[in-house]
Amino acid sequence: MDKIRYFDHAATTGVREEVLKEMLPYFGIEYGNPSSIYSIGRKNRKKVEEARQRVANAIGAKPKEIYFTGCGSESDNLAIKGVAYANREKGNHIITSKIEHPAVLNTCKALEKEGFEVTYLEVDENGFISLENLEKQIKDTTILISIMTANNEIGTIEPIEEIGRIARNHNIYFHTDSVQAIGNMKIHVEEMKIDLLSMSGHKFYAPKGVGALYVKENVNFQKIQAGGHQERNKRAGTENVPGIIGLGKAIELIYEEFDDYNHQLKELRDYYISEIEKRIPYVKLNGDRVKRLPGNSNISFQFIEGEELLMSLDREGICASTGSACTSGSLDPSHVLLAIGLPQEFAQGALRVSFGRENTKEDVDFLIDSLERIIKELRSKR
Ligand SMILES: *Cc1c(COP(=O)(O)O)cnc(C)c1O
Repeated sequence: MDKIRYFDHAATTGVREEVLKEMLPYFGIEYGNPSSIYSIGRKNRKKVEEARQRVANAIGAKPKEIYFTGCGSESDNLAIKGVAYANREKGNHIITSKIEHPAVLNTCKALEKEGFEVTYLEVDENGFISLENLEKQIKDTTILISIMTANNEIGTIEPIEEIGRIARNHNIYFHTDSVQAIGNMKIHVEEMKIDLLSMSGHKFYAPKGVGALYVKENVNFQKIQAGGHQERNKRAGTENVPGIIGLGKAIELIYEEFDDYNHQLKELRDYYISEIEKRIPYVKLNGDRVKRLPGNSNISFQFIEGEELLMSLDREGICASTGSACTSGSLDPSHVLLAIGLPQEFAQGALRVSFGRENTKEDVDFLIDSLERIIKELRSKR
């Protein structure tokens, strides 16, 4: 195996060279604490604020509405718990969907144990929530709607603008997990009436271990981690300065190259999907064909065991992902694929291929050829 071909950008991405270059001095020479008042501290503060401005610019926010966190999961926790605890006297009802990331689902489950009531909206066969149903579920006690911008497994893009309008009309806060969406679609928090938005650096070529949360001015939310007064007293802990610098640089770069990048991903994705559908029988595309992230594909191969397929691909240097998480040896079908009503035999053989910057058409041809051969082999053994 001479070359690794990476098609799992929805899981994580590598740090770009330009990003790493800007971060490097802040691991070493420039080690000051941004809260210190001497010059090397102030220099760090300046870089953190520059990153905050870059993030704000990318999503149409104000810098003071951006809070840096440790990851996308923390941003989701802070958004949902932060709003829930701060608005408890107003109500205890939260609306989310069945296909959210575990960072949202498990936060909601934890809140249920603390006396909050959570409605988990159903989705249709392509993964869309129903706006009509959303509005029907709203009660006097509803304080928060949390619906992801785009799904991490099947790439479906939810009707965010319409959800924002409904939330605003009912005076309910709207949080969206945009961890998959940032860099892959244009997001404007004012136009889309978003009150809180989560993102994570390592999904768009910044390092792991740094995230951000946008919280609209005047939204009533509270910190969930006790400690110092960092991040305007909403997120205690000395800032991850190199990580924050990297996140700021990466989001600026990706928006500078937005059209080219998205065009590249879309072309690879559409080519891959059409070739697979042409060359391999008994396949099914999961998620919507049109309203999906440009870099996401999720295809079920009937009569195939996903884990087995991944191992065969790995032997050829190909990295991809299944729709199902393998927990301690038992094959749990993915909650997303179950929610869209996919029959077991399709859910088992789901393969998520997510494209990124370094992928070329040549790589995709290699992937398609390998898949055609491997699927034939695996099916013939049954
Ligand atoms: C990856 C991901 C997260 C978690 O982000 P981390 O930075 O890995 O904690 C949350 N939501 C979605 C949709 C994701 O894809």
